[in-house]
Amino acid sequence: MTTAEGRTNYDVIILGAGAAGLMCAFTAARRGRRVLVLEKSNKIGKKILMSGGGRCNFTNLYVAPENFISNNPHFCKSALNRYTQWDFIAMVENHGIEYEERKHGQLFCLHSARDILDMLLKECELAGVELRMHCEVGQILVDQHEWPYQLDISRGKGIDKASIKLKCKSLVIATGALSIPSLGGSSLGYEIADQFGLSVTERRAGLVPFMFSDSLKPVCERLSGLATEIEVSCNGQSFTESMLFTHRGMSGPAILQISNYWRPGDELSIKLLPGVDAENWLAGLKNTQGRGLLKNLLHQKLAKAFVNELQILWWPEYQDTPIAEIPDKALASIGESLNHWKLKPSASEGYRTAEVTLGGIDTDGVSSKTMESKDRPGLYFVGEVLDVTGHLGGFNFQWAWSSGYTAGLYA
Ligand SMILES: Cc1cc2nc3c(=O)[nH]c(=O)nc-3n(C[C@H](O)[C@H](O)[C@H](O)COP(=O)(O)OP(=O)(O)OC[C@H]3O[C@@H](n4cnc5c(N)ncnc54)[C@H](O)[C@@H]3O)c2cc1C
Repeated sequence: MTTAEGRTNYDVIILGAGAAGLMCAFTAARRGRRVLVLEKSNKIGKKILMSGGGRCNFTNLYVAPENFISNNPHFCKSALNRYTQWDFIAMVENHGIEYEERKHGQLFCLHSARDILDMLLKECELAGVELRMHCEVGQILVDQHEWPYQLDISRGKGIDKASIKLKCKSLVIATGALSIPSLGGSSLGYEIADQFGLSVTERRAGLVPFMFSDSLKPVCERLSGLATEIEVSCNGQSFTESMLFTHRGMSGPAILQISNYWRPGDELSIKLLPGVDAENWLAGLKNTQGRGLLKNLLHQKLAKAFVNELQILWWPEYQDTPIAEIPDKALASIGESLNHWKLKPSASEGYRTAEVTLGGIDTDGVSSKTMESKDRPGLYFVGEVLDVTGHLGGFNFQWAWSSGYTAGLYA
């Protein structure tokens, strides 16, 4: 990678060396643009390295606009069509990176997420992108000359700290969003949007575990580490996936997915036997296996420890009663609870553990064809900083690749 440290003027300066910023950088540099990426931290692509449990779920075979949440559900379409999952998969294959398909079309590296980061850095190097770390952006000034954006940058730490002034024709904001500050979560993108008159929609933590403060908390603690397949619903959305009990509450893919649709105070409805009408099933068992205890019959479908907790919650008075002797009404009520377990999380775990931030820069102010601000020529926004959030399953990275690529064609 070239490091022409003395240079101050660039065609394109990109703030943030994450997924979207790196993608944008080599796409623009391949067009012959002189590109500089500024990163505030000491490490590039931290979220890529941590993603997918260290294997990076880098895209999904079934990308569709329905997998994205935004005030404007149409905004993501153009970029997703311009740079598809197949384009990214082709690049992964060209680099000889081995990957595997897991359920729901999710693609993961076979070896390490580092393969994806190394690939992006290699592409940056080949295209001649410059990269500087430990850079904090101060003031951004605008004038009408050939280099409209002027940036005050402070670089390094302590006595090594130095101030530099840089200029560029196009400025790309790829600083990501608020989730997990230790991995680079930052509000700079919103502050820049504010400076240039773009509005920012309400933000909240997404793809995030839930906590409970009521009588369920000790139950979750006792079951911590146990996973079970569920169908969870909230505000008209449903996901069938596994749920994981944690010391604080609930996590796992089903819970992370539904958290994108949950608001404080909302109730979740959980079907503990997906695909089974528990009320009918229990009524059938009463006829066919009437001497069995409900606990033992449920062990066919749910983990023992979980059934023991459910018994304490729902049928303590019938724990030693054969199912044939449990009154129909009581059995129907237990079936109803298995079909629609109503739970009210006290809160989500927030940005500390959220994989993404819902909301962001209002897409009304940004061209979906170029990612450029409609009112500020030369100012671009890509990746998670925008009000576009994907479901769990590789969709958030696909948005970073697609939006980064699109801006790279015009910046
Ligand atoms: C633990 C975890 C696991 C995840 N796993 C997956 C997964 O498997 N699949 C998936 O699709 N998505 C996953 N995601 C979501 C995905 O990582 C993000 O959606 C994606 O990284 C967003 O890309 P981005 O380039 O917009 O932002 P980021 O990747 O966050 O990059 C932003 C960059 O900007 C830098 N920056 C911030 N502020 C400044 C500043 N002031 N000046 C300069 N630089 C700055 C940051 O340090 C960072 O390097 C995961 C997220 C987390 C937290």
